[in-house]
Amino acid sequence: MKAHDALYIGGEWRPAASTESIAVLNPADEQVIGHVPAGTAEDVDAAVRAARAALPGWAATRPAERAALLGALRDGLRERAEDIAATVTAELGAPAKLASAVHTELPIAVAASYAELAATHSFVEEIGNSVVYAEPVGVVGAITPWNYPLHQIVAKVAPALAAGCTLVLKPAEDTPLTAQLFAEAVDAAGFPAGVFNLVTGLGPVAGQALAEHADVDLVSFTGSTAVGRRIGALAGGAVKRVALELGGKSANVILPSADLAKAVSVGIANVMSNSGQTCSAWTRMLVPAERYEEAVELAAEAVAKYVPGERIGPLVSAVQQARVRGYIEQGIAEGARLVAGGPEAPLETGYYVAPTVFADVTPEMTIAQEEIFGPVVSILRYEGEEEALALANGTVYGLGGAVWGERNEAVAFARRMDTGQVDINGGRFNPLAPFGGYKQSGVGRELGTHGLAEYLQTKSLQF
Ligand code: NAD
Repeated sequence: MKAHDALYIGGEWRPAASTESIAVLNPADEQVIGHVPAGTAEDVDAAVRAARAALPGWAATRPAERAALLGALRDGLRERAEDIAATVTAELGAPAKLASAVHTELPIAVAASYAELAATHSFVEEIGNSVVYAEPVGVVGAITPWNYPLHQIVAKVAPALAAGCTLVLKPAEDTPLTAQLFAEAVDAAGFPAGVFNLVTGLGPVAGQALAEHADVDLVSFTGSTAVGRRIGALAGGAVKRVALELGGKSANVILPSADLAKAVSVGIANVMSNSGQTCSAWTRMLVPAERYEEAVELAAEAVAKYVPGERIGPLVSAVQQARVRGYIEQGIAEGARLVAGGPEAPLETGYYVAPTVFADVTPEMTIAQEEIFGPVVSILRYEGEEEALALANGTVYGLGGAVWGERNEAVAFARRMDTGQVDINGGRFNPLAPFGGYKQSGVGRELGTHGLAEYLQTKSLQF
């Protein structure tokens, strides 16, 4: 793992305009592991110019050429798999197994899916006496969060490049080393200069400059709802395209016909994975009143297996640790019953939070409404399916969710949920299935053909 003291612009690593840098920390031991440049508006402008200059050539390439380069990128990521996993462990604190299975293999699968889609997708269709072309939107500004450092990048860059767009990436300041490693793989794959550009930097400086740059045609943002709202407003003002993947407060709905033990243990695992830093995590467990205490006991047992520093890593930063501990204190203050964990840090060093379970959570409590983004599960009780549905749909979010029970009942319930993705009896990750939010969880979809469509605009010729 090596930190570049440079930005990747126009096909080369070059120094940033200012000498300011960002220190990258390992959240497990709080040690500085590297520095990257803090890019400014001047750097963003240089990167957007490079992307603009590269656009006509890249947009005119045949889909098969783009597919071949995306295939080379997929292979380059695969060659760097060990380095990627080690880097994600170092800057995010992800345990080694999670770093390689999820943080590395999943984005490689997504890159592979777009290498294939670029080759097979039909960019032209005939509709009656018209020929309709799917053309690239243009220059994309991509802004990504730290929680799945590589996946968030690949989920934007791969479809944008497959569509024929060029792009400037501003990754999260907490995890820029994975982004630099990705840029190395892009460079090695042989994409034309300027097609992909990387500007590391702070959100309110480099991110803001990218979001408001007049020569960016589409801003694709993943992160908090607060920042997403500002980016959406900026895009609205400029009448430019925007894609927003924001927060969530997803429900894990356990119907009376469910295998309770499985639903609870998989539900707990879903939240504890990545230390609760997953936007679609099933943070609200909804249990029928008659099985409530049984579920609470099972949850306490399941969470005990997540030993901080072994099976579960730290949070990404001291700021996130403090935020999550604050939510746990608030849950206690508002009267929820603490079943496991609590606000005390479980280890002296590192930004760890104790895996926490709250019972007797009622819908108006803060911990039932706001995204905590930590290893905290709120268990709510319901009487009857209608109450379960009102609870499931009773937040401003609608990103993910789960339903457990007899298959037809579970599907019928899922169809009534105001949310973009639902896993039935556990589900299985599908890199081609559209991912994105209803309500305040966002605008647009990522992955598969739906993700590709975000980067395309249509033109029709009539004959
Ligand atoms: P964040 O919004 O603070 O930061 C996300 C990115 O935006 C970072 O690159 C940051 O530098 C940049 N940014 C910050 N301020 C900016 C500004 N004023 N202008 C432009 N860019 C700016 O979010 P975070 O703390 O990094 O991530 C956690 C949040 O992301 C959670 O709410 C989580 O749910 C959400 N998230 C959503 C998804 C999804 O797919 N829906 C995925 C992961 C994370």
